[in-house]
Amino acid sequence: MSETESFVCRNQSCGTPWEQSEVVIKNEGQGPLFRCPLCGARNYLEQFEDDEGNVVYEQVDGKPFL
Ligand SMILES: [Zn+2]
Repeated sequence: MSETESFVCRNQSCGTPWEQSEVVIKNEGQGPLFRCPLCGARNYLEQFEDDEGNVVYEQVDGKPFL
């Protein structure tokens, strides 16, 4: 697997891979997430900063802790 921040829709009947640039990341109050452009499933993310201070996202399984 390469180092790109690619995501996979967690909806098992969808499972479409997305690049970060292909999805809209927003925060609805439970942390960052994107909605799959194909099926609309919520996919939760965790936000990090890399060594250069850039914001990067990593996909998490299910819902993040509340
Ligand atoms: Zn999907």
